[in-house]
Amino acid sequence: MANFLGYKCSLCGADYAPDQIQYVCPHHGDMGNVDVALDYAAIKKAASPESISSSRDNSIWRYAPLLPLDLLLDLRVLKELGDLMRVGWTPLYHADRLASSLGLKNLFVKDDGRNPTASFKDRASAIVVARSKEINAPVIAAASTGNAGAALAGMAAATGMKAIIFAPKTAPQAKVAQLLMFGAKVLLVNGNYDQAFDLTLQASREFGWYCRNTGYNPFTVEGKKTAAYEICEQLAISNLQSPISKWHAPDRVFVSVGDGNIISGIWKGFKDLLALGWIDKMPKLMGVQSEGSAACANAWKANTETITPVVANTIADSISVDLPRDGVRAVRAVRETNGAYVVVSDDEILAAMRDLARGVAVFAEPAGATAHAGLTKAVKEKMIDENETVVVMNTGNGLKDVKSAMQAAGEAVVIEPDLQAVKRALS
Ligand SMILES: *Cc1c(COP(=O)(O)O)cnc(C)c1O
Ligand SMILES: [Zn+2]
Repeated sequence: MANFLGYKCSLCGADYAPDQIQYVCPHHGDMGNVDVALDYAAIKKAASPESISSSRDNSIWRYAPLLPLDLLLDLRVLKELGDLMRVGWTPLYHADRLASSLGLKNLFVKDDGRNPTASFKDRASAIVVARSKEINAPVIAAASTGNAGAALAGMAAATGMKAIIFAPKTAPQAKVAQLLMFGAKVLLVNGNYDQAFDLTLQASREFGWYCRNTGYNPFTVEGKKTAAYEICEQLAISNLQSPISKWHAPDRVFVSVGDGNIISGIWKGFKDLLALGWIDKMPKLMGVQSEGSAACANAWKANTETITPVVANTIADSISVDLPRDGVRAVRAVRETNGAYVVVSDDEILAAMRDLARGVAVFAEPAGATAHAGLTKAVKEKMIDENETVVVMNTGNGLKDVKSAMQAAGEAVVIEPDLQAVKRALS
C-alpha cells in the first residue's frame, strides 16, 4: 500500500522493506518482533478524523487508510470484508456507578467481548487473514490459549480459508468448542501454551503454513491497534465534539497482559494517532498481570528489558504464559508512557469479574476482568487522580469460561416448586 513503508526491528532497529522479511528480524532467533512502519504523510493526505468519523462502516475497516494492506484500497474488497467480518467498533460504556464506587469521575469500560468470536483477538485475526489473502497463503496456523485460535478459526470460516490451531489441552471447553465448530483443524497439545507456540513455529516452517502466532506475526499488532483508534474516536463522539476535527485520548488505559501483544498494539495505535496529530497526548498505559504469570511486570519493576520466564499458574488462562512473546514491547509500552504494571491475585480477578458484571453489566472472562482488578488495586494504592479519564479494556467474554464464572458468582439455590420454599429461600 502507498502507506506501508516496511518493518523496523524492535530490538536492533534494523529496517526491512515490505517484501524482505515475513515475520521477525533474523538477528534474534524467533524473538525479534518488528514494528510496521507507516507513511504518515501519505495517510494524512488520504484521510482525516472527519473523513473517518463520517464512515458508516461500524467495524475496524473504517480505519482502512491506517492499515498496511494494499487490498483495502479496493472498495469492493473492503465491502466484502466488512460484510464477512464485523470486527471491532465495540461499545465504550461510561461506567458511572462503577466509577463512583471507586471514587472516580470518568471511567469507561470498552467491551471487546462483543466481537464476533467474543474476544479482542478478532482484531488481530481479521488483519492477519486479510494479509494472508494479499500474499496468497491458503493455510494459516496459530498457537493459542483458545481465543486467538477461535478468532482465527472464525475468520477463516468467514473467508473460506483453512486454519490449523495448536492449543494446550487444558484450554476451557467453550473455546475448544468454538475451534471445532468453525471447522478448524484442532491439535490439542499435551503441554502448555509456550510449548504449543514453539510447535506451531516448527510446523509452519515444515509445512509452509502462514503463521499467525502472536507478536511473531507483525500484523497482529496492526490489528490490535484499532482498539486505541476506537477509544479516541468514541471519546470524541461522547464529548459531542462536532464536527470531529480531533479525536480525544484518555489519561489512562488498563490492559491485561499475557504475551504483551495487546498492550503493544494499543500503544502502536496511540503512537499512530499522535504522529498524525489526531490526538494531543499519549495516555499512560497500565499493564495488569496475574501474580501467577507476571514476567512483564517483573521486568518493568527491575527496570530491565530482559524478560525472565516464569512457571505460569493462574485462573486467567488467556494470560497464562511462561515467556511473553511480546515482552520487550509490553515493558516499553508502560515505561515510555509513564504508566505502571499492577499485579493482582486470582481472588482479586474473581472479585473484578463480579464488579464488572454488577457495576456495568459486562460479563468478562478472568483475563478480561484482570484489567479491572488492576484498576481497583491502583485506586486503592492512590495511583490515580479522581479527575482522570480512565478506560478499562475488557478483552474476553465470560461465556467462554463458565467454570470460572461459577467460581466467581457462586451456585444458585434449588427449591421445591412451592411458595413455602420461596419464603424459606428469601429469608
Ligand atoms: C490474549 C488475551 C489477553 C492478553 O493479550 P496478550 O497479547 O497475550 O498480552 C488478555 N485477555 C484475553 C481475554 C485474551 O484472550
Ligand atoms: Zn533486529
